[in-house]
Amino acid sequence: MKHTRVKDLLNSTTILQGVNAKGWVRTFRNNQFIALNDGSTINNIQCVVDFENTPEETLKRITTGAAISVTGDLVESKGAGQKYEIKVEKLEILGDSDAEIFPMQPKKHSLEFLRENAHLRVRTNAFGAIMRIRSVLSFAVHSYFQEKGFVYVNTPIITGSDAEGAGEMFKVTALPFDNPPRTEDGKVNYKEDFFGKETNLTVSGQLEGETFAMALGQIYTFGPTFRAENSNTSRHLAEFWMIEPEVAFNDLNDNMDLAEDFIQFVIKYTMDKCGDDLKFLEGRLLEEEKSKPQADRSEMALLEKLNFVLENNFKRVSYTEAIDILRDCTPNKKKKFQYIINEWGADLQSEHERYLVEKHFKCPVILFDYPANIKAFYMRLNEDGKTVRAMDILFPGIGEIVGGSQREERFDVLVEKMKALGISEEELWWYLDTRRFGSAVHSGFGLGFERLVLFVTGMTNIRDVIPFPRTPMNAEF
Ligand code: ATP
Ligand code: MN
Repeated sequence: MKHTRVKDLLNSTTILQGVNAKGWVRTFRNNQFIALNDGSTINNIQCVVDFENTPEETLKRITTGAAISVTGDLVESKGAGQKYEIKVEKLEILGDSDAEIFPMQPKKHSLEFLRENAHLRVRTNAFGAIMRIRSVLSFAVHSYFQEKGFVYVNTPIITGSDAEGAGEMFKVTALPFDNPPRTEDGKVNYKEDFFGKETNLTVSGQLEGETFAMALGQIYTFGPTFRAENSNTSRHLAEFWMIEPEVAFNDLNDNMDLAEDFIQFVIKYTMDKCGDDLKFLEGRLLEEEKSKPQADRSEMALLEKLNFVLENNFKRVSYTEAIDILRDCTPNKKKKFQYIINEWGADLQSEHERYLVEKHFKCPVILFDYPANIKAFYMRLNEDGKTVRAMDILFPGIGEIVGGSQREERFDVLVEKMKALGISEEELWWYLDTRRFGSAVHSGFGLGFERLVLFVTGMTNIRDVIPFPRTPMNAEF
């Protein structure tokens, strides 16, 4: 007999005879009421056991975490809290779970404890919800771009260029690391390595993506990226997923419009599909905030916050305006920032970004036209000769969620910039070809998928929105 998903049983419009459900026991009360969850929804189905006619041996094995199969009629529930329940006629234990040692007890666990049990935490309500939302968000990403006719491009994960410039890279090698072949001057001889050259895990698919945009018009990537930075923060992973659209003939304003429209679309899409999960996470958050002092609580509940992003335009502010605001703000004057903003040209730290978003503008902010020397080599130089057409989108509680730019399409300007920064033209010959042959204005951005999931779920640590986080000193599982 084929089993029916709990979600479908709960959504049934009538009572049903002889249904079968399979899942894991969340709780078992009074030797009678099983809360059964199969992952299809945050909601459990109540299964009522006829304990008088069930062997004591079987009842003992209905423990939290056990996998079971129940068969019986779907009937109207007499209890409050659910419309339907299963009146169990046949119960089979598929896999026992020793209640004494099963780590996911029906009580509140700390997020730290759950991280150490990432293989089991997905059996909790919160992580089930987060991972379902993550899945729906990924699909929303593809929906958005596919509907608009973007081509999905799989850029290489092992990259032969170390000039992507977005961060520290993990080396990929097949050489014996304790005794690698060496050149005459004692350096590791990568000519003898698997690819005959140095290779790394990609930090961004942008440069390859640009070459595709210059043929296919509008493209996007959505894949894993890797950064070997030792940033042990609640917003950085060593392995994360990035979405990078790149569009020919788009200037920086078009790029901002695209990013804003895209983010609003995927949030809306997820709100439409994941109502129960979001409501659960909102409740969890409110509960958690009760223990915080009033001043540290968020001004909006989760769904209100998401609606706010849908209903309000992102505030567009130039870097220069932002510096003026920051220079004159109270935390800067009172030296409350770790990095004090003294002058134009300063790189913005996450404390500054969050001040602008959370305290000053109180809405998502797009900062644009950054000083050239704090941004990457490929960004389009403005007429002023000192700023570039870069844009970062800053979100409350997150800081930077998107980094993008209009790309420098002028061959000579680009080469000059590369020379100044010591970036090898020989190595990026193929990138420069996009500017040699049929160059055109184009723009794109990178959005860190986990930061988006953070925002949508209201979680605060990026380790809690990816199944198995990779961070410095941590690659368990
Ligand atoms: P940050 O300043 O936050 O370290 P970045 O400027 O180095 O980020 P970009 O190179 O612009 O990041 O990457 C584009 C996007 O990828 C960022 O806006 C962010 O959403 C995401 N991102 C960057 N680094 C990480 C990371 N280590 N873990 C998770 N997401 C990241
Ligand atoms: Mn950035």
